Amino acid sequence: MTARQKTLLLAVPINWASLWTTPIAQAAPHLKLAVHGRDAYDPGEIDYVVSFRPPPGLLKGFPKLQAVFSLGAGVDGFMADPDFPKHVPLVRFVHRSLSREMAQYIVLHVLTFHRQQRYFETAQAERKWRQTIPPRKTEDTRVGVLGLGEIGTMAAERLRDLDFPMLGWSRTRKDVKGVRSFAGLGELETFLSQSDILVCVLPLTSDTRHILNAKTFKMLPAGTYVINVARGGHLKEDDLIAAIDSGHLAGAALDVFETEPLPETSPLWAHPKISITPHIAALSDPQAMAQVAIDGIERLESGRPLVNVVDLARGY
Ligand code: NAP
Repeated sequence: MTARQKTLLLAVPINWASLWTTPIAQAAPHLKLAVHGRDAYDPGEIDYVVSFRPPPGLLKGFPKLQAVFSLGAGVDGFMADPDFPKHVPLVRFVHRSLSREMAQYIVLHVLTFHRQQRYFETAQAERKWRQTIPPRKTEDTRVGVLGLGEIGTMAAERLRDLDFPMLGWSRTRKDVKGVRSFAGLGELETFLSQSDILVCVLPLTSDTRHILNAKTFKMLPAGTYVINVARGGHLKEDDLIAAIDSGHLAGAALDVFETEPLPETSPLWAHPKISITPHIAALSDPQAMAQVAIDGIERLESGRPLVNVVDLARGY
């Protein structure tokens, strides 16, 4: 008797599906590939799902489901589904290329603020030769990274190599060369009070939602610049605007928003001290994403343990 051909379901917005269908088909020609919303398929035949934000309830309808592979590092889109089948391993996307893109974005915005690039762009627009403002010394500009995981660690190491004094905050204590480690809620205030530039690269969980708020902003030194590359749900946007307008915070760079796309009516768009990008900090490589999922499937099929499995109780 020949073995049943396994089926992988790709559940992404239809207009994006072609990004992944070719790399998946190339990397795993032995799998049958179905695209949710495009192809007819039998739910009883689905073995694996590759997705980012699957429609709520979709995943509970696959009795043979063996693993779900997230196309993103953040899995809050899966955690938001009360019907997520908790007995099925959820594997998140971890890849050096993703961490590198994120670290680049973070370094770019730390340096843009530190070197006062916006000031000089304004001067250029006015044809003014303004050499007046001395940059703060690098050695005196402490950068605090909320979340010292895959991405936060790489970003902290890159900034450390540029001579910024580095701090990192995580749930558990870390030992990263040149990065002072702060752990748990008990050390959050001490960490924040020493962050002249604050970067958020935490996963969005019930513990971290709205962690960037009026209360935590007050714990930051006056003049801190905030960079949020994690999720919009980490930030209370009104509190940020109030803290900048009061003069306490120097400004912010935001890649993620509570509502995406950011509505045209949002006051964030026109704020002179806020830089906005449309959730593009990491332009993930579809080839790498497909390969991570296929590697996971190969592990399962050869009886080896999966890696980067999400702890559903922790939420990341
Ligand atoms: P990760 O490796 O899981 O790291 C998460 C870090 O956050 C860990 O250091 C963890 O501490 C810490 N953490 C989690 N909950 C905490 C809590 N309650 N208190 C203190 N620390 C806590 O995740 P990652 O791969 O670096 O990704 C981080 C996030 O970046 C993703 O979840 C996603 O939301 C975001 N992201 C955004 C984009 C974008 O395009 N803007 C792209 C990719 C990812 P422990 O190490 O002690 O567990």
